[in-house]
Amino acid sequence: MKCCIVTLGCQMNQSDSERIRSVIEGMGFEMTEIEEDASLIGVVACSVRQKAIDKVYSKIQKWNQWKNEKPLITFVSGCILPADEVKFIKLFDLVFRMNELLELPDMLHQSGVASEFSTRHPLNDIEREDERTDFWQVEPTYSSDFEAFVPIQNGCDKFCSYCAVPFTRGREVSRASADILAEVERLIENDVKAITLLGQNVNSYGLDKKGEELSFAALLRAVGEIGSKSGKELWVYFTSPHPRDMTRDVIEAIADYKCLAKQIHLPVQSGDEKLLRRMNRNYSIEDYLKIVDDIRELLPTATIFTDIIVGFSGETDEQLERSAELMEQVKFNMAYVAKYSPRAGARASRWEDDITPQQKSERLAKLSEVLKRTSLAHNEAMVGKTFRVLVERADKRMEGALASRTEGKLPVRVLDASNDLVGTFQDVEITSASALSLAGKLAGA
Ligand code: SAM
Ligand code: SF4
Repeated sequence: MKCCIVTLGCQMNQSDSERIRSVIEGMGFEMTEIEEDASLIGVVACSVRQKAIDKVYSKIQKWNQWKNEKPLITFVSGCILPADEVKFIKLFDLVFRMNELLELPDMLHQSGVASEFSTRHPLNDIEREDERTDFWQVEPTYSSDFEAFVPIQNGCDKFCSYCAVPFTRGREVSRASADILAEVERLIENDVKAITLLGQNVNSYGLDKKGEELSFAALLRAVGEIGSKSGKELWVYFTSPHPRDMTRDVIEAIADYKCLAKQIHLPVQSGDEKLLRRMNRNYSIEDYLKIVDDIRELLPTATIFTDIIVGFSGETDEQLERSAELMEQVKFNMAYVAKYSPRAGARASRWEDDITPQQKSERLAKLSEVLKRTSLAHNEAMVGKTFRVLVERADKRMEGALASRTEGKLPVRVLDASNDLVGTFQDVEITSASALSLAGKLAGA
């Protein structure tokens, strides 16, 4: 029996997928990437933008046609808005939330899959709670030997007016720090080189269990201690923090530990005060710039990434201009610019989506131009210098080259290097730079 899981969206979904995979493999399924070969097929959905959800609808239409030709069970999980959930129940055999993962074998039994998994798996004995977090105890089947995602939190309490997440993943729940640290320790023992702590608001970690749990800064320090004691080379990242909770002690913790990677992804969303208020972001541009100053002071080598939305309801040309100015001022190394997509249930979905698709594309192009300029200036300054990189894979577009990233997550093409280096750290001398990438050769080669 073969199973195929299609994962859409962010790293959080990839991490969910790794846990779903463990449960399904525990039932005796073999994984395949070929949809046509599977008798169990599912999708881990992303509801952040409509485009990704449209993809889920087109997949299930195709899969339901296949059911005329062969037995097939379909499922959907991940980040699903209530309005889509109602429709998915009619289209998929199984719709489950991540916190119901341990029930998946039973659900599949009811759909006719024969397996003893649900009666023999020890996790079935775990106590059920209202806010269930027992799915985190499923050991994931990591997709890589040298890079791993570790969820530290689920859900979000921030309710940004454009965002689906509080409605798809529910309230913010922190994973027990003892479990997080045990997972990190295991990964380091297994020689994993890059670990990313995941959550929608990583830096509000522990606030739902005040007095009982570590703060985010304390969690980072505990991870830093484990990394330092191991004596191994390691880069630990986290994504995404919210500017409102980005306290100086978080940045100080990163500065104090070599293994805490000097890269900060700090979504700003807009450069305009009024728009930030309409987005319910709860920080000012001044607050944001103060954090950037702290980062530059305490982590002078850090790269800074961001997320920006263009074409939000009511966004004027002047407000877009302010986003462009902020980008010029901060000089981000990377910015993920997204066109606003109204999400059912989110507050802004009641406001007019009054920026046309054409205007959204033009605004996105305008901010992309600013990004290219700032990123090029950073990258050109790296030429002739040597940087440590983690080699990720063979380069898809160039024979004999490797794709790698610096500690700051900047992509570097390593020329004339062997595939044997995948999964290792290397020193690379940067020989050329373009707007969004770098190229170099192994130092000493
Ligand atoms: N929690 C993070 C934060 O506070 O910014 C971000 C998580 S969100 C799932 C990832 C990114 O998707 C956001 O930073 C935002 O830029 C983008 N996004 C979220 N909702 C969106 C929407 N309705 N339309 C377009 N982009 C959206
Ligand atoms: Fe969405 Fe805002 Fe929560 Fe980020 S902080 S997940 S943008 S509601």
